[in-house]
Amino acid sequence: MSAQRVAVVTGGGSGIGLATSARLVKDGFVLAVLDLDADAAKSAAGPAGLGIGVDVSDPEGVETAFADVVAEFGRIDILVNNAGISGGPNATRCHETPLEDWDRVQAVNVRGPFLCSRATLATMLTQGSGHIITVASVAGGMVVFPNRCAYVASKAAALMLAKSIAIDYAKQGIRSNAVCPALVYTPMTAWRLDNPQFRAAVESQIPIGRVAQVEDIADAISVLASDRLSYMTGSALVMDGGWTAI
Ligand code: NAD
Repeated sequence: MSAQRVAVVTGGGSGIGLATSARLVKDGFVLAVLDLDADAAKSAAGPAGLGIGVDVSDPEGVETAFADVVAEFGRIDILVNNAGISGGPNATRCHETPLEDWDRVQAVNVRGPFLCSRATLATMLTQGSGHIITVASVAGGMVVFPNRCAYVASKAAALMLAKSIAIDYAKQGIRSNAVCPALVYTPMTAWRLDNPQFRAAVESQIPIGRVAQVEDIADAISVLASDRLSYMTGSALVMDGGWTAI
């Protein structure tokens, strides 16, 4: 049983989740990292943490993983719903998107946060405290990324799920907020951002003049996961270098 605050990070094996895991360990959390890649999850969780290989869209797998977390640490203070996918190359405009791509994007990006939140809320309700932080996107309510209809719809659903949880559990001492990045340099986006012309075109439209680094988003999650901003729930923290303000 741990006296430390406990955070669970999904998709913590790469990109934003990996940077968030490192940051939360630095902040003093003991971590459980859930990822499809079990080795990456174990490495991100560190020696004091718990790394679990699981698909966040798999109901039994998620239930087992969260039972293992509670058995190991006794509580969950923070859940970071970060695992997500953008969809395959054919998941573009609506009439061109294969059903399998649509379903897989919704399964990971919407059912995943639902299952992980549901599993966590049982523990948070017993504690009378907790904070769920969902990594949505500016393409989840503020703007649309062209030709990514499955992803855009999934992030809007994830954002509204985060808001629903905020409203439904506020009186039980549980908060829920979202972080909405625009473009962040990660393995998910490197294939496009490593094209210098594409990157220059994107960065010319961002007032701060650059895409985000993973640490920028980890920093936002770190602030939300702290005891600061405790009046904030049901909100979306936009991390876009000013892009959607234009
Ligand atoms: P990434 O591809 O670098 O990392 C995603 C991680 O999630 C990987 O470790 C992967 O193994 C894991 N994962 C994928 N499917 C999973 C599943 N079904 N179950 C468990 N783990 C799974 O991606 P990233 O760019 O760091 O993205 C992280 C989150 O941030 C995603 O939700 C993404 O939609 C969101 N986001 C990213 C950007 C961006 O520009 N990179 C912008 C806005 C929002």
